[in-house]
Amino acid sequence: MPKILRPMDVYKHLPGTNCGKCGETNCMSFATKLIERQVSIEQCPEIFEPKYKDKLEAMLEVLRAPVKEVTIGTGERAVTIGGKVCVYRHELTWYHPTAIAIDVHDEMAEDELLKRVEQVENFVFERIGMQLKLDMVALRCVSGSPEKFAKAADLIAKKSKLPMILCTFDQNVMEEALIAVGDKKPLIYAANEKNWKEYAKLASKYQCPLTVSAPRNPSMLKSLCRSLRNYGLDDLVLDPGTFLVGDGFNETLNTFTMLRVSAIEKEDKDVGYPLMAIPAAIWSLTKEEDEATVKMQEAYMSCALMSRYADLLILHSPDIWVLLPVLTWRQNLYTDPRVPLSVKPTLYPIKEPTGESPMFVTCNSALTYFLIRNDVESSGNGWIVCVDTGGISLQSSVAGKRFTADMVAEALKESGALEKVKHKTVVIPGYAARISGELEDMLKGWRVFVGPRDSSGIPSFIEKVWKPEIAGK
Ligand code: SF4
Repeated sequence: MPKILRPMDVYKHLPGTNCGKCGETNCMSFATKLIERQVSIEQCPEIFEPKYKDKLEAMLEVLRAPVKEVTIGTGERAVTIGGKVCVYRHELTWYHPTAIAIDVHDEMAEDELLKRVEQVENFVFERIGMQLKLDMVALRCVSGSPEKFAKAADLIAKKSKLPMILCTFDQNVMEEALIAVGDKKPLIYAANEKNWKEYAKLASKYQCPLTVSAPRNPSMLKSLCRSLRNYGLDDLVLDPGTFLVGDGFNETLNTFTMLRVSAIEKEDKDVGYPLMAIPAAIWSLTKEEDEATVKMQEAYMSCALMSRYADLLILHSPDIWVLLPVLTWRQNLYTDPRVPLSVKPTLYPIKEPTGESPMFVTCNSALTYFLIRNDVESSGNGWIVCVDTGGISLQSSVAGKRFTADMVAEALKESGALEKVKHKTVVIPGYAARISGELEDMLKGWRVFVGPRDSSGIPSFIEKVWKPEIAGK
């Protein structure tokens, strides 16, 4: 079962002074937002007063998710992973989207390295009103040289705000890089069976999160985590190994699932940390020679690993066609299943419309709105009025009577849409054809057009139906 907190579970550990310093009217309001992750405990300055030391300790214990939150990097691009409280997304929601890193190495020419880092840092793709971005770079030591590795890490830190993963099993190489960039809180990769004591000292000395690696050996992973926890380290990331060829892929997904179930349902604190997967490993494991096929494998394996339950992915391919399915799938997984994605129910002007531009009505589901907006943009310009259907899609809204003639008439009046156009016509979606007559009666003097069922038909509908009809009026 997911660890579901109620406001009282949290409220009883707050100071209870209702001082308002957090910006909320009282402590109960803050507690309600705290369990929904809309605020953080750092926003209550009172609880950090020495007199509330016991309350703070109890609060941190209550707030600790079964999969601990771990923050990598500093400043505006710092990334927090983990924080999961349920195994299955539909049980509550998954917090902290899977972070995506692109790998680089210390034998790359300086120009090439910086170009790749810049590409990762500036990558942005807008989908249904959200900006999809990449999160970090993973710097691999290929040279074996402490100086080269540290120089590459330093270069990245000076030119970019992205958090870094420093990848080497050699403690001397790692320390040289940490001397250069340890204050940026990179993720250290990785402590294993042989080096864990030295890496524990480095993570403690530089106050950086640490990856624990035990490929194909969950018992060793658990044992290493326990030793590191006893050492005083708690910002850990687990690498149980990513095997992507043949039965190895099933094995990887099974191991990830077993670890996540143990962390949440069996409350095993030794494995209650974020999971790292490395789809980039496909490039060294596969015998496939066709590059496009390997890239495609990297993309779909990344999506599967995110679903089962990777909190951090390291990819190799920077191609947009590899990244888009991964980012889109991440966006879908990490929306709150309790709240349909919606836009504000109001009037939207699209590309500076005038009184002669067409007016469309639709629901306020974000996916529907952005699809229609793109198609209206392709047809020139126009107005879109979104009816408040609670973010429910159009077909369901029509069937469930959340997109009725009186609701559409009300939305047109309240949004001021009726004053915006001279032609006194409105286009409703094809799926809502049944309300056209009733709506026309309500809008007195207005004509209601039934548009296409699929919004991709809007440009042709405007050219072939709406414009000739308006011209001949
Ligand atoms: S700052 Fe803390 S003590 Fe003050 S109202 Fe907010 S939650 Fe309560």
